[in-house]
Amino acid sequence: MPTSLVIQTSFLGDTVLTTGLVAELARLGAVDVVATPAAADLLANNADVRECIVYDKRGADAGIGGMLRLASRLRRPRYDAAYLAQGSWRSAALAAAARIPRRVGFDTSAGRLLYTELVRYAADRHHAERLWLLGARRDASPSTPDEIRPRLFPGPAERGAVDALTAGLPRDGASLVALAPGSVWGTKRWPYYPDLAARLAPLHRLVVVGSAADAPLAAAIARAAGSDRVLDATGRLSLLGTAELLARCVAIVTNDSAPLHLASAMNVPTVALFGPTVPAFGFGPLSTRSTIVEVDGLPCRPCDPHGPEVCPLRHWKCMVNLGADRVLDATLALIRSA
Ligand code: SF4
Repeated sequence: MPTSLVIQTSFLGDTVLTTGLVAELARLGAVDVVATPAAADLLANNADVRECIVYDKRGADAGIGGMLRLASRLRRPRYDAAYLAQGSWRSAALAAAARIPRRVGFDTSAGRLLYTELVRYAADRHHAERLWLLGARRDASPSTPDEIRPRLFPGPAERGAVDALTAGLPRDGASLVALAPGSVWGTKRWPYYPDLAARLAPLHRLVVVGSAADAPLAAAIARAAGSDRVLDATGRLSLLGTAELLARCVAIVTNDSAPLHLASAMNVPTVALFGPTVPAFGFGPLSTRSTIVEVDGLPCRPCDPHGPEVCPLRHWKCMVNLGADRVLDATLALIRSA
């Protein structure tokens, strides 16, 4: 039974998308995962993960000294293979310094010179599938979408936290629609969430999800839609708690950001708004029912793999021209299609 180490220290969404690879490897043997402190929560209660090893690469484990300390710790379990789900030289050096004999990663990664097996980066596949292909079945295609669908497992703590958060809501039967207005990158933040919220609020109760940094966006939504119709969950739940909350919603409207992938993991009907990025990058929704809303025919799209902080052309038409009417129609159609 091979023992595998998956190294994923990228963004939160990437950690979510890596869970399909972890499940694939867990069919063959034990799997440990190296993750950032922020992402470790996402792997709680996941029976496919034997141990989650936290790598605080920007804090306590910063620098070469921190990397070598962790590498020394990783030598003891004697892993058969490391899967470089995140392709930096630092992750590759970590696996090499840990003396893991097989080091598997993408042929486009910065750290590829330290890999022992290169896997073609399938640019035309969803990133969850690309990661899944790092596992044993390189020439296969997933037999069902569920094989690559991310997996998250909220437990009693997360259910309790969401029960407490929603305890004060009126028991009037109104269904919950989640709004995720945040993003690390400025140009990915669709500007019309308050307009959308004002129109959705008579029909559905709204819950705003995100980090504490998204609280001002939630406040603007509550002002537009009425605070009695909006539950602000920003900064009030763990990532896994947010996944549990999303599982209780009839739909989510989200930018191209981490909540989109949380929703995919919980198979929540998803309206995904793409501006400077495009779904063809491989980070679109994986929920069974999902809709992508974007501005077609804009020659500057996509302009960046992540989305710049400000529009380099200053007009930001990829988001400004994506009106609330279109998103409202898409959201209501998705909810009605249940
Ligand atoms: S350059 Fe185009 S795609 Fe990029 S942010 Fe501006 S409008 Fe959007």
